[in-house]
Amino acid sequence: MNKTIWKPESEINYILRDYNTFGILSCGTCANLSYTGGKTGVDVLKKHLLKNNKQIKLAKVIIAACPEEIMRQALKTNKKALKKCDALIVLSCAAGIKSANSCRPGLPVINMLDSVGSSAVSCSDPVLARSLCRSCGHCVLTYTAGICPLSECPAKSKYGPCKSYSESNLKCALDPLKDCVWHIIQERSKNLHLLTSLKDLHARKEDRDVHWTPEIKNAGFWKKFFAWFASHIQKLEWVMRQFR
Ligand code: SF4
Ligand code: SF4
Repeated sequence: MNKTIWKPESEINYILRDYNTFGILSCGTCANLSYTGGKTGVDVLKKHLLKNNKQIKLAKVIIAACPEEIMRQALKTNKKALKKCDALIVLSCAAGIKSANSCRPGLPVINMLDSVGSSAVSCSDPVLARSLCRSCGHCVLTYTAGICPLSECPAKSKYGPCKSYSESNLKCALDPLKDCVWHIIQERSKNLHLLTSLKDLHARKEDRDVHWTPEIKNAGFWKKFFAWFASHIQKLEWVMRQFR
């Protein structure tokens, strides 16, 4: 799930200052599991808005905020109430805010939450539950037993321990209050030795866009073209949407 946390109160008040009447659509999936959306999020936000003398014309939990079709339906169903609002607050991760904006709701879409990464839901392993994905684009979880070193290591040392790491000291060299995550990774991983060569592979620029397997490398023009096309389809889709 995409984990979300409340923005600091000072930022929330800064965002709210220009509006008086609000509609709230709250995500019933990821934000709900983060306790920032769903009914919990609505109750917290309602209290804050009323304390600041704001009016609420609509407060609904929707199944999920990121699918555009669900958002479109929610906006359509609540069109009447939304007409009386200055702004729409969507309690969701960034994907829900984008989905609401892409439906062109005719009023400003406001974001009260910060998206902090994806994580496992209800995990019995605290290290894995804590380890958020920051979407770095070059994942190493295959070699690190599912633990994200970018999330857990203060030095953001992704392909192995930092230079100050010590085998004899279990504590982190930069933050002695926590254990060094690389000790835990070394203990759990079965294929950590492969990580060094992966660093070189990730550094190769040509691999960022298209995965040139030997088969594609030796293929003819059209096969290469379709491989390139497949890797750029999302960008092309975005360009095409602008002409619709
Ligand atoms: S290495 Fe960490 S931040 Fe990068 S994609 Fe994997 S889990 Fe996400
Ligand atoms: S001691 Fe371990 S956790 Fe701390 S910065 Fe170095 S590699 Fe990262």
